[in-house]
Amino acid sequence: MVPALLARGEPLRHIRIFYKDKPLAAFDLPVPDGEKPVMIGLPQSDTERILLKQLASLDVIPTWNTHISSVSQSADGVSAVSESGETFEADWLLGADGSRSVVRNALGVEMDGSVYPDTWSMIDAEIDWPWPDTEASPHLQPDGSVLFFVTLGEGRFRIIANREDVQARAEAIVGINKVFLSDTFTISLKRVQRYGEGRIWIAGDAAHVHSPVGGMGMNLGMEDAADFVATLTGGASAADFAGYTERRLAAAKRVLRVSDRGYRLATTTNPVVRAVRNGAIRLLSALGPAQRWLMRLVFRTRDQT
Ligand SMILES: Cc1cc2nc3c(=O)[nH]c(=O)nc-3n(C[C@H](O)[C@H](O)[C@H](O)COP(=O)(O)OP(=O)(O)OC[C@H]3O[C@@H](n4cnc5c(N)ncnc54)[C@H](O)[C@@H]3O)c2cc1C
Repeated sequence: MVPALLARGEPLRHIRIFYKDKPLAAFDLPVPDGEKPVMIGLPQSDTERILLKQLASLDVIPTWNTHISSVSQSADGVSAVSESGETFEADWLLGADGSRSVVRNALGVEMDGSVYPDTWSMIDAEIDWPWPDTEASPHLQPDGSVLFFVTLGEGRFRIIANREDVQARAEAIVGINKVFLSDTFTISLKRVQRYGEGRIWIAGDAAHVHSPVGGMGMNLGMEDAADFVATLTGGASAADFAGYTERRLAAAKRVLRVSDRGYRLATTTNPVVRAVRNGAIRLLSALGPAQRWLMRLVFRTRDQT
């Protein structure tokens, strides 16, 4: 699946950071032959298409529009009951049912953390992009507002602001030709203390949520799922899944920490912190080839400590 995602994705090769609408620094992230880019941009519709193709290649046909309302387990297996009363039986259950997870609630697992005060908004849009060599561009402001532009390829961009009026803010910088989707939302910084028990486990936003800064949420969830499958296909018994919680918790803690620090730095209103941040950004942008290594270090989602 990774080759298909990489083939369709738009590699992030150049980032341009603005402060008070003036260029602050630029980062070059070349993609040497045979190496993976630090990050790619990909519309959600393409990600879903590639995931569905992969499922089809494994002869898995998803059952759509079926809301699971309760789950239970015994020593030998699990069962899930839908709102319409249909029962599904299996050996194991992995709940990847998002931040309001029914599976997590059935396990009695709490999500601890906090909610950021800002209301965010986002659009996916076709825009007149003024910097053809640049794929991503954060625009920072002294009042703590921030506007992120990230390419999705084929002239489309995802634009996110930590304010409700993303489109108006974007239109002050670029021309917008067509808006494909828009949303407003709040952001939490929360995670579980454990990923399940016995034969029922959770993955993705069911276990952790954080700010979009760094763009690591879906990646972390996919790694959860890959770890679960690797544990399962390694001939695991229920007891072996303790390691699943341990590994995924370490990865989630790291991603939440990086994303929260990035969020706080991007939105700081403290003039001293802002001056240090802007100075550090300028300094890092002067590091030449080390920039790529640095970005990899920041954006890795797998815990390697
Ligand atoms: C603005 C924004 C930008 C982001 N950008 C990035 C990015 O650039 N890179 C990145 O990696 N991540 C990004 N993320 C995070 C990413 O979107 C999420 O981490 C990811 O979608 C979580 O996937 P998930 O499958 O765990 O949960 P969800 O996407 O919430 O999916 C859960 C699914 O379960 C279904 N479901 C829920 N309850 C039930 C039930 N009871 N029975 C049956 N089905 C159920 C839902 O219908 C849904 O289909 C971003 C998030 C936001 C808000």
